[in-house]
Amino acid sequence: MAHNAARRIHVKGIVQGVGFRPFVYSTAKELNLTGWVRNSSAGVDIVASGKSDDLNILIEIIKSQPPPLAKIDHIEWSEIQVEVFPDFQILESKVIPGEFIPISPDIAICEDCQRELFDPQDHRFRYPFINCTNCGPRLTIIKDIPYDRPKTTMATFPLCAVCEGEYADPTNRRFHAQPIACPDCGPMVWFQDKNGDRTLHEAGLQRARKSLKDGKIIAIKGLGGFHLACDATNPRALDNLRIRKKRSQKPFAVMAFSLSVIEKYCEVSASDKELIHSKQKPIVIVNQKIENTLPDQIAPGHHTIGVMLPYTPLHLLLLEPDIDYPDLLVMTSGNISEEPITYTNADCLDRLHNIADGFLLHDREIFTRVDDTVLVSMDSQPYFFRRSRGFAPQSITLPQNNNNDLSVGAELKNTFCLSKGTYAFISHHIGDLKNFETYQAFLEGVDHYSKIFKITPQRIACDMHPDYLSTKYANEYAAQHRLPLTLVQHHHAHLASCLADNQYDDDAPVIGMIFDGTGYGTDGNIWGGEVLIGNYKNYNRAFHLDEMPLPGGDQAVLHPYRIGIAYLIKSGLSLDERLALIHNTDSVELEILAKQIELQINTPMTTSMGRLFDAVASLIGLRQSINYEAQAAIELEQIIKPNIDQAYHFGLNSGTIEIKGLLEELISDIFEGIPVGVISAKFHNSVVRLVVEIASQIRSQEGIDQVALSGGVWQNLYLLNHAIQALRGEGFSVLFHQQVPANDGGISLGQAAILKKI
Ligand code: ZN
Ligand code: ZN
Ligand code: FE
Repeated sequence: MAHNAARRIHVKGIVQGVGFRPFVYSTAKELNLTGWVRNSSAGVDIVASGKSDDLNILIEIIKSQPPPLAKIDHIEWSEIQVEVFPDFQILESKVIPGEFIPISPDIAICEDCQRELFDPQDHRFRYPFINCTNCGPRLTIIKDIPYDRPKTTMATFPLCAVCEGEYADPTNRRFHAQPIACPDCGPMVWFQDKNGDRTLHEAGLQRARKSLKDGKIIAIKGLGGFHLACDATNPRALDNLRIRKKRSQKPFAVMAFSLSVIEKYCEVSASDKELIHSKQKPIVIVNQKIENTLPDQIAPGHHTIGVMLPYTPLHLLLLEPDIDYPDLLVMTSGNISEEPITYTNADCLDRLHNIADGFLLHDREIFTRVDDTVLVSMDSQPYFFRRSRGFAPQSITLPQNNNNDLSVGAELKNTFCLSKGTYAFISHHIGDLKNFETYQAFLEGVDHYSKIFKITPQRIACDMHPDYLSTKYANEYAAQHRLPLTLVQHHHAHLASCLADNQYDDDAPVIGMIFDGTGYGTDGNIWGGEVLIGNYKNYNRAFHLDEMPLPGGDQAVLHPYRIGIAYLIKSGLSLDERLALIHNTDSVELEILAKQIELQINTPMTTSMGRLFDAVASLIGLRQSINYEAQAAIELEQIIKPNIDQAYHFGLNSGTIEIKGLLEELISDIFEGIPVGVISAKFHNSVVRLVVEIASQIRSQEGIDQVALSGGVWQNLYLLNHAIQALRGEGFSVLFHQQVPANDGGISLGQAAILKKI
């Protein structure tokens, strides 16, 4: 066999801990190539010698058929001196100082492992921690790099001979699978009751199942934290869970053993199925069947529901079908109200003690707490509400090169972002920083990501809001390390986030329809109904909603009727008793509100689009107080009557979007007894028309036909779908989010992208 060529090949991306070297090894063997493959801290290096055609095939196969979890960012190769090696080998890793390699997210159990889990002949039959290089925990167990077992929370489990053999065998699916484990050497599961009595292994699992079947609430340790679980078909269990968790109405997500169970209750499109089945197994929001037997307590006021499939072996065992066993479990985050999700055994036993009737625990420690990802299928693509498990810390490619930068994001739904080169490592969902524990998680997260991606920030970006804890942190960090700090206006960050998300690499300005709940404006007001013309570097505020009073600030946000009343007063409309929000508010409170608005006492002004949705929900009598964020707007979307074309009318007056006329038309519909579903549809349609009208005006003046949609209001799918269609119908090209949420979870990416252009 004559060797006539040799090449050195370098592959960058997620190529470690995902079975990449065995894949190269076996491919090279099949092609009769000799040489070696090895991990370096900058990726994977290959030297291969053989026939030149076969070397081409090797590179082709690496590009086109890499292992399931690998993500190749870059591959380069050069011809080298032909050298005959005795064999093809996997060599020891080589560390290059200063270089980093991306880390794989946590991935749901693969089909091979699932088959082995239920195979009585298999060594890991019914073993709740079965995994391989194609699946299992990653980010959640990594303490440091390089990603090797001693640097993970699996370090405390020495391998048995069987696992050791598989770990060392390049032809095995578990070759260098760092979390490898088996019943003889790995972690174990146990059930613990409220008295602290433990039942180990399979018997413990069966106790948990029995409790769930009996309507009990069980805390279950998962991949990135604890879930609280109960029988989703048992209204009493659901009531208990809502009371104990202090979560009266916010929807719960559910988990089913298989897709066929989900299809029993839900309308599932082909693209929904693809997302539900994907290797990340996120929570996917789908429509419930019109006729279904699900208790209303799962998602009150919703015709949609968040569904997911089991993503760990333990989940599969927990949901294994059996006679009279519930086929659907609520799996909601293990916390009280808005606190961060519990992730250690001790914390679970402490904080969830009064919620759960029992605890299904295990001794594989979670190092980084990671919540479930929530998304929906849009245009057959994922559209994120929360990007976390399965996606973080996978990098997003920035359109331009960055230095080492840190952007700290917003305050609610916080994520932070460390970037280097074209890599933007956006953190898992951190949450509301005003919560002390969440803020601690933010601090630890920034340190941890800096360490594992070897990024020492040289520049920092934060929001302009002086009171955001992330801003305060950025100020301190910048002062302490003497680094330049860039303050980014919130809605400019949303715009840039949408551009970067779409790999928009152009300085030409676009029309940013930034519709949001809240954000600090350059005039000190609360912005949120903003039409910006801009790019990464600059923006102009071309249009904004009427400035409206927000009596009591955050208090008003919790009570939409106050917003409704304030908007009526400011617009000079009558406080008609026929309106529920007037009828139900006593005259003293009405007077106080009027005075408060007149004298501007604790009454910030806002141009927020989210607040306008709140006002409308209140005016039509849908919701006067909320108990979770954006509830009024979400319910307003849920009640839309389909196939309504009519709309109300916004006024446009030199950059101001006037709402008085719209409110008048809407109120007259209320008095005429038009159904709320129709009014809601008409209101949504008005916003769609507004978007098209403004975009057309700007196009005729400035010749811009590129529109970007960002901000939390764009989580409204009716609005999003209709706006995209209407804009495209008028010849606009539309950018909307693909990889990060339109909400504040995407702010850190926007800040990072803006830093790149400064
Ligand atoms: Zn597997
Ligand atoms: Zn073992
Ligand atoms: Fe925002």
